[in-house]
Amino acid sequence: MSSTSIDSLLHENRRFAPEPAFTAQANATAELYEEAKADRLRFWARQASELLSWHTPFTQTLDWSNPPFARWFHDGRINVAYNCLDRHVEAGNGDRVALYFEGEPGDSRAITYAELTAEVKKAANVLAGLGIGQGDRVALYMPMIPEAVIAMLAIARLGAIHSVVFGGFAAESLRARIDDAEAKLVITADGGYRKGTVFNLKNAVDAALASGAESIQNVLVVRRGENEVDWSEGRDLWWHELMAEAEPEHEAEGFEAENPLFILYTSGTTGKPKGILHTSGGYLTQAAFTHKNVFDLKPESDVYWCTADVGWITGHSYVVYGPLANGATQVIYEGTPDTPHPGRWWEIIEKYGVTLFYTAPTAIRSFMKIGREVPNQYNLATLRVLGSVGEPINPEAWVWYRQVIGGGRTPIVDTWWQTETGAMMISALPGVTTAKPGSAQVPLPGISVDVLDEQGAHVGKEAGGLLVVTEPWPSMLRGIWGDDQRFVDTYWSAFEGKYFAGDGAHLDEDGDVWLLGRVDDVMNVSGHRLSTMEIESALVSHELVAEAAVVGANDETTGQAVVAFVILRQRMVGSVTDEEAEAQLRAHVAEQIGAIARPRKVFIVAELPKTRSGKIMRRLLRDIAEGREVGDTTTLTDTNVVASISASFR
Ligand code: ATP
Ligand code: MG
Repeated sequence: MSSTSIDSLLHENRRFAPEPAFTAQANATAELYEEAKADRLRFWARQASELLSWHTPFTQTLDWSNPPFARWFHDGRINVAYNCLDRHVEAGNGDRVALYFEGEPGDSRAITYAELTAEVKKAANVLAGLGIGQGDRVALYMPMIPEAVIAMLAIARLGAIHSVVFGGFAAESLRARIDDAEAKLVITADGGYRKGTVFNLKNAVDAALASGAESIQNVLVVRRGENEVDWSEGRDLWWHELMAEAEPEHEAEGFEAENPLFILYTSGTTGKPKGILHTSGGYLTQAAFTHKNVFDLKPESDVYWCTADVGWITGHSYVVYGPLANGATQVIYEGTPDTPHPGRWWEIIEKYGVTLFYTAPTAIRSFMKIGREVPNQYNLATLRVLGSVGEPINPEAWVWYRQVIGGGRTPIVDTWWQTETGAMMISALPGVTTAKPGSAQVPLPGISVDVLDEQGAHVGKEAGGLLVVTEPWPSMLRGIWGDDQRFVDTYWSAFEGKYFAGDGAHLDEDGDVWLLGRVDDVMNVSGHRLSTMEIESALVSHELVAEAAVVGANDETTGQAVVAFVILRQRMVGSVTDEEAEAQLRAHVAEQIGAIARPRKVFIVAELPKTRSGKIMRRLLRDIAEGREVGDTTTLTDTNVVASISASFR
């Protein structure tokens, strides 16, 4: 084994074959892989023509003459908002519900495609009246309410560029993103609901504008929280006042397929956020294709729910663009999973008869921590496909998800992708793939990936290395806003002509892909390169444990030593002392993986430091474990967590 590959020591042998009844009705078929393999570009051209409506059809599929700067379908013209709205109304589906909005305090609204189209037309007129046109940047800083979706689509309709900044970020993060994109307008709300209280977004906008963000000309404010806000006459405008006066008609113009659609800053798990740029035709093609096939969407009968906030890429591709391009009916929910009670999500699934559900491993593990008694109180029998995204899902969490939420019946799709990839890249197809818990498995039809060692050689089967994408794909990022060199350096210089994703992966004996987490998080213990992910999965497979984070801390004898931070399942708290738990867990890891992976130390903690999108920030734990000053915490949800863990560490 080469010294640069990653050792994979965890063995997971459970298999879940598709139900024949599911396969018989599935959108996806094994032929899709054959078709894409025979002619990848022709396959994507067919998807683009069949799934979307073009103002001017394209004749060129891919221009890769200036790599890594790709142009897809570039001589075609398209309007993204028209594809998500008007065409469904024109096809006679105006009465179909597009959004079932559920507010945290319990208020709800159903908005049909006809209503959503009408709102977006008015909003486009409002924005045009404020001087927004093709290429202008508009920042959004909003709660998860229908106006966030309406604003995004209105911006897209004008050929302008949105930059959504998650509403949980502080003023300084908002200011930095506005400045980087030189946005002209910011759309916000007076406040939004979170954990039972109103958080004041407008204050943060005011603070951002007081300390910079000089490109901003106006602040458009949606009324949601009904809280007191300061008002700057002339600069600040109420959304509802302008909407009441807006012209109702707005004709969607076709823009070049490569017209920029949005900038989205990565979540900052590994360092300074990058402004990832996405464009129109290729992005929408892959968002629509994957949403239809990976969720087996039947727009006439399904009720889809993705729990992501629009502030993340998942909210862009799988709340706004994919589902709406496909004419889906979906739920959007403003608040947190446990407000006002821990069964809130399951109550929403029961209320709307949700059939397709997409969430993140961090949420699943937090429900595991509380226990199955809570979801068991609700009728979840309508569910037919469950999805996971954001981090590797530990096999034990996968099985819990399928048993407890999916009634032991539903296919699970573990979807690997990134802000940069724009849409899903590696996932099982329900009805086609025999599922393996913990593995994202196979590249989607039309997507080509490989796992390489540091010299760029294919690692072969049953070996680990670095995940790369070997061919351009329609929804690929087109660059980093304002920094072409950083784009080339970050993603395209590790391996000539290949996209380096920054994640480690292992190929099993079938050639299926198992994600091992970020390359930055790989540890080196006595010359073995170990994945944090596998040791965490071993810990989570112990009955005491709900969630675990593992880091490699400097060690004089072994190079690095495994240090684990563990959250216990609620019903186990108090059943053992910390010392007993530590001894059991060290032995368990040694038995599951091998003595090499046995943690030097296991800390029992109440919380783990996470980014606002719910990902564990291992670099902070590494700082703690090595007794260093803790690094940049601006994207951390709760800085107290670090303080409390640091205290217990000493
Ligand atoms: P930053 O790049 O700023 O550090 P980030 O990588 O967390 O932030 P995202 O683009 O939201 O921002 O996340 C993409 C990353 O999430 C992937 O590179 C991978 O590490 C992880 N990921 C997403 N889905 C999966 C999955 N199904 N399995 C394993 N890992 C996943
Ligand atoms: Mg990333």
